[in-house]
Amino acid sequence: MTSSIEHNYDAIGGKKSEVLLFSRESGRRDYAWKGSLGKSSFSRISFDFGLLAFLMISQLGSLLPVSAKPWNASNVEIRTGINMMVSAETEKEKKNHAPAPFYETLRKALKKRKLKIESICPTSDVVARRILEEYGAIFLAVRNVTPPPVCVFTAEEQVTRFQEAAGFTTETIADAEIELQPEAMRKLLKARAEAAEENLDITPRGGAEAARRNYEDSLRLWDTRFLPALDYWLGQGRLTAEQVSRLLNLPLHNQVAEVLELEKSGIFFSKDLSKSILYSIAAPGTSQHIAMLALDVTEFDNPRVREILGKHGWFQTVLSDLPHFTFLGLKEKDLPKKGLKSVEADGQTFWIPNAVDRPT
Ligand SMILES: [Zn+2]
Repeated sequence: MTSSIEHNYDAIGGKKSEVLLFSRESGRRDYAWKGSLGKSSFSRISFDFGLLAFLMISQLGSLLPVSAKPWNASNVEIRTGINMMVSAETEKEKKNHAPAPFYETLRKALKKRKLKIESICPTSDVVARRILEEYGAIFLAVRNVTPPPVCVFTAEEQVTRFQEAAGFTTETIADAEIELQPEAMRKLLKARAEAAEENLDITPRGGAEAARRNYEDSLRLWDTRFLPALDYWLGQGRLTAEQVSRLLNLPLHNQVAEVLELEKSGIFFSKDLSKSILYSIAAPGTSQHIAMLALDVTEFDNPRVREILGKHGWFQTVLSDLPHFTFLGLKEKDLPKKGLKSVEADGQTFWIPNAVDRPT
């Protein structure tokens, strides 16, 4: 890999259904499901295995006459027995680690907040549904934070009303004044304190914009990808001047929908034009930063920093957006049963909706 950090978060191409991460210089595929059998379950199985073997052998030893003790046929039986137990255990463990279906867990999580999927994100709205499956981990956050009431905010007043109702606190970290929901901030400060004990730092990347953003910010950031990409594809002859002018004048929602549609034919709008714009910048009104539950972290490439953030409920939930952390307030071991699956990209772990049960 030769390139910069920017290249890294622009490194995923393709439609959602066939998301692959390539390090493009080498063409190496660098994308893998995280194993469903964690280290902890392995050690428990080994322990069970050892204990079981010990019990069976000592039991057998006391039952068999001394002459039968040179282990022959019985030995085989013991091994077979143990192997069967182990594979049964493995299947059980696999089941425990398999991610639950996202829509089912989302429905339950929203019910506790007296909300319905259909009211935050109508099934008929293709853009909203896509956003939900890309950025939707946020709706599974702990009860003492407030997820957004919609997948797509459509006006500044609506964002302001939500942010005031949810509440936020301000801290100055590394000269940047950042704002987050109180519980998210509290846990961030705890993570920072733990990091400091190890002479590590956790700081906002890119100043105040690393945390809370408003609607206008999300519009402006969308244009930083959308406008240069239009120019590029016009220059390449893939879009005509009429198409460009039409796209520019579309109502925002339709503009996003058409961009996502064009991306299906390889006309990508991310910063490096190699993948969906959604992996490069959030569609207007959809950023987790609007929910004040996201922070872009300077030290994201330090594995220990990521571990400490995870310990305090901060996880990477937007595939390929490397510096972006989301406050879920959950324990990592509980994320699969909450409907999130772990995907590794560029050696980092992302927790994204396991949307296998999409309603039609
Ligand atoms: Zn971010």
